[in-house]
Amino acid sequence: MPLEEPKPRILPRAEHAVSRKQIDSDSLKVLYRLNRNGHKAYLVGGCVRDLLLGRQPKDFDVSTDATPGQVRKLFRNCFLVGRRFRLAHIRFGKDNLVEVATFRRQPEEGELPEDPADHFGFVENVFGSPAEDAFRRDFTINALYYDINDFSVIDFVGGLEDLDAGVIRVIGDPQVRFSEDPVRMLRALEFSARLDFTLDDATREAIYQRAPLIAEASPARVRDELMELFRHKVGGEVLRVAQEVELLEPMLAGYRADEATFKLLDNIDRRTRETGKTPQEGFLLAALFVEAFVSRCPTDQDHHIGDALRIANQLLTPHCAHFRISHGTRHIARELLVGIFRLQRGPGFKGERRFLRHPQTPQVMELFALWQESRDGDRELAESWQERLAAVQQPPPQQPSEKSSPRRSRRRKPRRRQRSPKATS
Ligand code: ATP
Ligand code: MG
Repeated sequence: MPLEEPKPRILPRAEHAVSRKQIDSDSLKVLYRLNRNGHKAYLVGGCVRDLLLGRQPKDFDVSTDATPGQVRKLFRNCFLVGRRFRLAHIRFGKDNLVEVATFRRQPEEGELPEDPADHFGFVENVFGSPAEDAFRRDFTINALYYDINDFSVIDFVGGLEDLDAGVIRVIGDPQVRFSEDPVRMLRALEFSARLDFTLDDATREAIYQRAPLIAEASPARVRDELMELFRHKVGGEVLRVAQEVELLEPMLAGYRADEATFKLLDNIDRRTRETGKTPQEGFLLAALFVEAFVSRCPTDQDHHIGDALRIANQLLTPHCAHFRISHGTRHIARELLVGIFRLQRGPGFKGERRFLRHPQTPQVMELFALWQESRDGDRELAESWQERLAAVQQPPPQQPSEKSSPRRSRRRKPRRRQRSPKATS
């Protein structure tokens, strides 16, 4: 943290392209009311970054010098959340929620909570100035403010320059900031992939050096950030880089992937881009383990499902225990893997019809097709299963009757007449 309050670079309205039209109207109402009541009212974080880049922000976070109690007095529809750090949630209608945080500073040593899993440098209720609030954030491009008072952009940390240059740079000493919160290393890779930005040298070097620390990060937070990667369609890319910089193994409790798995994850990201549907966690889990699973499955004549189940459990159980993944999600992943085993061994085995009619089977097929594609595998096998699936899902052909199938009945009639003219009369 700086000893003296640094002077920010201020970009007046005329020198940037952020317009109020791009800002969510409820967030604007909150900003204006705070401002009218004598408070500083800024947008901050990802939304300012995205607006400056001409991207659509996911959400609009508001920062202010009003305390949570003061915010609550200003808004009827407001309630305070968070035990350690109080945030104000202001509700609009049924669906919209604006989150308002009071400027905070980085806590001193003695102010941190005892459980390191609970803090990443800014969980305590230690209010600060806008500058202090900027310096506790992770990357320079994530610490810009948009001031509703004069529509300027305020930069204490050199974020504007880094946005122009396309650089992800940790605020402060990356070694220290990654030690404080190792999840920031994964976030650095995530933003680099999402925005197509490069990591600055010191940030990259610090990831190499601090990577093992991520093993001690809260698994719940790592799990959230992992899902975030796939929501943003950069899961394959980020996990590949994470393995290169030796972050993947400590992050995923010893997990390593081969190139085919990374390609499969790329294919899943591509599918998300095409369909707009984020994959479920069970689907992703199955994808992470499918290569290891199939290579361990029996290939002898019998191909017992029981063996496949056991192998799927062996792979999934430690991972799910580490990340406290629910039984339901683990069950989905296991069924997908066992389904892949059924498809891989080929048609003609007992229970095939029931399997094809199972509601999860289309998902198995989808994973199977993406997986075959990723390893240049047996596309024909994938296609032939798709045909079988389509055949089973079609309603059974109707019995020919004069009404429903006039052509057939016309053809049959003369034949019957030939054999037994009396029968038709
Ligand atoms: P997006 O929401 O588009 O994924 P974002 O930048 O808004 O990106 P969030 O995870 O929503 O990311 O976090 C909001 C802001 O909080 C960030 O922009 C950053 O300033 C700060 N922040 C989040 N996580 C950390 C962290 N681990 N350490 C320091 N600051 C953080
Ligand atoms: Mg955000």
